[in-house]
Amino acid sequence: MIKKFITNLFASNKGKSNAPTAATGSREAKKKQIARAKKPVVHKANSYPAKQHGINPKHIPESARMVTQTLSDAGFDAYVVGGAVRDLMLGHIPKDFDVATNARPEQVLKLFRRARIIGRRFRIVHVMHKRDLIEVTTFRGDNIDDVETDEHGRVLRDNVYGGIESDAKRRDMTINALYYDVKRQVVLDYHGGVPDLRDQVLRIIGEPDTRFREDPVRMLRILRFMAKLDFDVEAHTLDAMNACKDLLRNIPSARLFDETLKFFTTGHAGASMDVLQDHDFTEFLMPVLHEVMGTDRGADWVYAVLEQTDERVAEDKSLSPGFLFASLMWIKVEERWTFHQQQNPSIVALDMAMNEVVHTDDGEVVLTKRFTADMRDIWSLQPRLEKRLPRQVPKLLEHPRFRAGYDFLLLRAQMGHLGDTGLDVANWWGIMYGANGAQRAQMLEELRNAPKSANAEGEGAPKKRRRRKSKSKSSSNANGENGVNGETVADSSTGND
Ligand code: ATP
Ligand code: MG
Repeated sequence: MIKKFITNLFASNKGKSNAPTAATGSREAKKKQIARAKKPVVHKANSYPAKQHGINPKHIPESARMVTQTLSDAGFDAYVVGGAVRDLMLGHIPKDFDVATNARPEQVLKLFRRARIIGRRFRIVHVMHKRDLIEVTTFRGDNIDDVETDEHGRVLRDNVYGGIESDAKRRDMTINALYYDVKRQVVLDYHGGVPDLRDQVLRIIGEPDTRFREDPVRMLRILRFMAKLDFDVEAHTLDAMNACKDLLRNIPSARLFDETLKFFTTGHAGASMDVLQDHDFTEFLMPVLHEVMGTDRGADWVYAVLEQTDERVAEDKSLSPGFLFASLMWIKVEERWTFHQQQNPSIVALDMAMNEVVHTDDGEVVLTKRFTADMRDIWSLQPRLEKRLPRQVPKLLEHPRFRAGYDFLLLRAQMGHLGDTGLDVANWWGIMYGANGAQRAQMLEELRNAPKSANAEGEGAPKKRRRRKSKSKSSSNANGENGVNGETVADSSTGND
């Protein structure tokens, strides 16, 4: 599909300049296009007709069509913008559809029954249509002097409005500043995003240094798109990224958390880790992960976790942020657990280790409580599941995080972190979980009667009872699932800009 898009562009650009701002499309095509439009508008953008941009109008969902149409009927301009246009041109399925308009948030609000204004830094209207959510943003102004910034130049609040041109200038990368006019089926390009898409280049709009100062998270977005699209970064953009890394230290942890989720839960977690490591950004995204990646054991573990996560996304299975973060930080917890066990009983030592890892040096909680509660549950289930004390088994099976804890144990066993009997123990839990009452009772009885050396209370594991074998190292557990656990990532807020 990318190939098809590239071929279309090359075909229509034959003999023309490759410069990012070079006009494309024959004069003929442009004339026709303008003739077809009811309200011809004069733009300073390059305008690409359907033949060149290749977007199939059928791929625009009814919700985005309805929103742009309603705004347009009310006399406003409205375009599908950003990632959706980029992804459609590349033949990918967009994650979401955003609309940009010259209507103010209050004006947008009045036009839709199910709509609400969100955000303080950037006011956006969320319009619901059936089960879809469309984010409608008002064109931003480009007078940065009107915008509230902190001492580093980071934009704190920006509700200064403008026209489509200024809006384009305020977007992060050229490939994310494409505007699709749904009705006329034209893509407007103010910053050479179309040639950059063709050349597979990520380029910041404007002066990279300034743009990263305004919002350092743009550097993380570039890294994410490198991983997602396998594009290169333009040289000036890359130089500035290397020079501006430190600015990420001023970003609130909630926003970094959102970005981390986007890196690792959208189907290219492994590639994201490669890019973060290659460009030395892991430390700025998540210090603990940086430490974990510093050892072979840690890196092997993290890549196994991320591979499993990507497999789940590919299979359209849900992901739990708690499980993901518990996994990413685990090797550090394990290390501190071992350390504290020198002076403390195992369970106490684990508690100390967990406390250390979920808090920063100055006592701040690294993640929101909602996630740390899940992570602590998953971690503290580990010694209990490993020990398999018969009297604790029924309670453990009822534990709300049992499935996640069990998946975690299985992964540890598959990685060879639990010694020779680790896989047997993990599989035992899988069989136990799927068993009916009578079978469970029998398995417990066998566990009680097992030889002393086989578990912590001297009660051995029923090694011959394995009913299902795990299919491969990282692809299957005893319930035929790969990894966790019936929760979704959905409710992390991933606000625009
Ligand atoms: P995806 O949704 O696939 O992650 P996206 O590019 O659509 O990618 P969103 O977070 O949905 O990302 O943002 C929508 C658009 O808003 C972007 O394409 C870009 O034009 C603009 N945008 C997002 N974040 C920023 C930012 N930090 N600075 C400038 N523009 C941004
Ligand atoms: Mg998007």
